[in-house]
Amino acid sequence: MPDDWTKPLPPFQISGNLYYVGSRDLASYLVVTSAGNILINANLESSPALIRVSVEKLGFKWADTRILLSSQAHYDHVAGAAEIIRGTHARHMVMEGDVEVMKSGGATDFDPSLPHFPPAPVDRTLHDKNTVSLGGTTITAHKTAGHTRGCTTWTLQTHEGSRTLDVVIVGGWGPNPGVRLVASKGKPASYPGIAADFDKTFATLAALPCDIYLGAHGVYFDLLGKLARVPREGNAVWIDKEGYRQALTEHESAYRKELAAQESGK
Ligand SMILES: [Zn+2]
Repeated sequence: MPDDWTKPLPPFQISGNLYYVGSRDLASYLVVTSAGNILINANLESSPALIRVSVEKLGFKWADTRILLSSQAHYDHVAGAAEIIRGTHARHMVMEGDVEVMKSGGATDFDPSLPHFPPAPVDRTLHDKNTVSLGGTTITAHKTAGHTRGCTTWTLQTHEGSRTLDVVIVGGWGPNPGVRLVASKGKPASYPGIAADFDKTFATLAALPCDIYLGAHGVYFDLLGKLARVPREGNAVWIDKEGYRQALTEHESAYRKELAAQESGK
């Protein structure tokens, strides 16, 4: 496990009511509203204590966590969910496709090589483009499946003075090693329709308006590199439309290359 998954990072404001409360690589986001807070990503089984410290350092109450969301039902993003739900009674909302994996603690994942995690109850099943609203803030769930069956990219808008900014939190944009995108060498695809899901995911991501570019892992959007620039440049470092487009192009071409290799039987 990479050190940066568990190494803490001082929490900080990203934009408006959106804050970073994750580790150096496993991203957690807190959306603060007048009716309580929304937490995106519970991370590892050991992460809730660190996330709580970050939330409290910012001056917010852990008990005000009303809704828990996640980027994708892999253990590095959801293993802490059960504990957070027990501790805060947050309503747990999960994209279709990831619901069974959450409830089974990873046992029903199409990729049997991944670690399991404490199963978590699900209060609401989300579908593509459903919205989650609390205290005047609305977050939209975009189903960007393929990495997991219910991998979710979250979008919201933040406000800074008279400016409105479009935020994209990428859920995942490529297959893990060993995942079969097509049937070949006598083995079936990892799940039926996985390649079609990725096609739709890249089209969905390309169509999203994006000012502030974020993701489930810090490495998706160069969290540490950008953070080092904050003292000189301020929170404008998070505004990175071009970085988003460029990363999307790179991930899609890596995906197309992998797909072509699998289709040719490699
Ligand atoms: Zn994953």
